[in-house]
Amino acid sequence: MPHSPAGQERPSGRFFLPGPTEVHPDVLAAQLRPMMGHRGSTAQAFMKPIHERLQRVFFTARPVFVSTSSATGLMEAAVRNAGRERILSLVNGAFSQRFSDIARSCGFEVDEVSIPWGEAHDPNDLTEALSKDRYDAVTMVHSETSTGVLNDIPALAAAVKAFDDTLILVDSVTGFGATEVRPDDWGVDFLLTGSQKAFALPPGLSFGVASERMMKRAATSPHRGYYFDLEFFADNHEKHQATTTPALSVLYALDVQLDRMLAEGMDARWARHRSMAERSWRWVDEMRGSGVEVAVMAPEGFRSPAVTAVRTPKGVTGSSVTAAVAERGWIVGGGYGKLKESTFRIGHMGDHTLDELEGLLEVLTGVLT
Ligand SMILES: *Cc1c(COP(=O)(O)O)cnc(C)c1O
Repeated sequence: MPHSPAGQERPSGRFFLPGPTEVHPDVLAAQLRPMMGHRGSTAQAFMKPIHERLQRVFFTARPVFVSTSSATGLMEAAVRNAGRERILSLVNGAFSQRFSDIARSCGFEVDEVSIPWGEAHDPNDLTEALSKDRYDAVTMVHSETSTGVLNDIPALAAAVKAFDDTLILVDSVTGFGATEVRPDDWGVDFLLTGSQKAFALPPGLSFGVASERMMKRAATSPHRGYYFDLEFFADNHEKHQATTTPALSVLYALDVQLDRMLAEGMDARWARHRSMAERSWRWVDEMRGSGVEVAVMAPEGFRSPAVTAVRTPKGVTGSSVTAAVAERGWIVGGGYGKLKESTFRIGHMGDHTLDELEGLLEVLTGVLT
């Protein structure tokens, strides 16, 4: 049984944070492999099959870059490589706001299409914003982990396609692994994710797929810096090696997790997430039926299969829910940012099963009634 930092034993299947997520024991154990040199033939023989399997799970013919950084690093890479002067950011929660803030902090002029947290973006609003001004790129978040909203990325990407020269930058940090992600088919120019969300790996790596357009832009982009220079990634990827010393232990975990994901099948993985999400929404309905005034924050039709943000009843704080759940030996996420006390979040993502989720919902029912 794994030890929690507090020294308590916690059986697996009880850790429902919306990142980091629970990591399967076989994947955790892979991290005990000894170190190896990260250049040369041994490293290349290790990385080549990883690169090939990454292309399969990302449904892309493009290289999948592996970055030793958390996902925020590749959010910065996205704007640094795609931006010249002006960026448009779609904002409907904490992480999409972060994308905008990153672009501004990198020196770009940023405009936002800002809608209330908990709503999903309308492609028509995006078309309108793009008609008014010229932008180098648009940033958007697929699954907004702060609210549990799933944006319709194919529809939003299609709206941007009408505007030549405007690149589409997508944070799919809690989308990838939980729901369909097809960067090539969707015409996305940069799609990024992290290791510790629905990928169900330990934190420490992030992954990015860049279109040919994106690579062309990067080649002349003045602000791409060094660590996140996509040409640096592409040159090293060709040799099946990392840019700089990678988080090797997490790469060992990735090696095992890719096999596990492909054995399950991506369709089956998405279906499992969908059924966990639907079960969570139904549980909220059941609670309402018994007089507990909880609500799913995201509107129907735009709900993430990875995370559900649940509005707490009047007089009940998000932190009191997470604390009571923790006392019973389970973990759920608190509200994020300005939703800290008005919501709690169930991270039904990664390698969790419907059975484990049932166990959690039973605990939550006990806490709320
Ligand atoms: C977790 C998360 C991030 C940030 O990831 P880090 O790995 O902590 O940098 C960005 N976007 C979304 C949607 C997330 O859920």
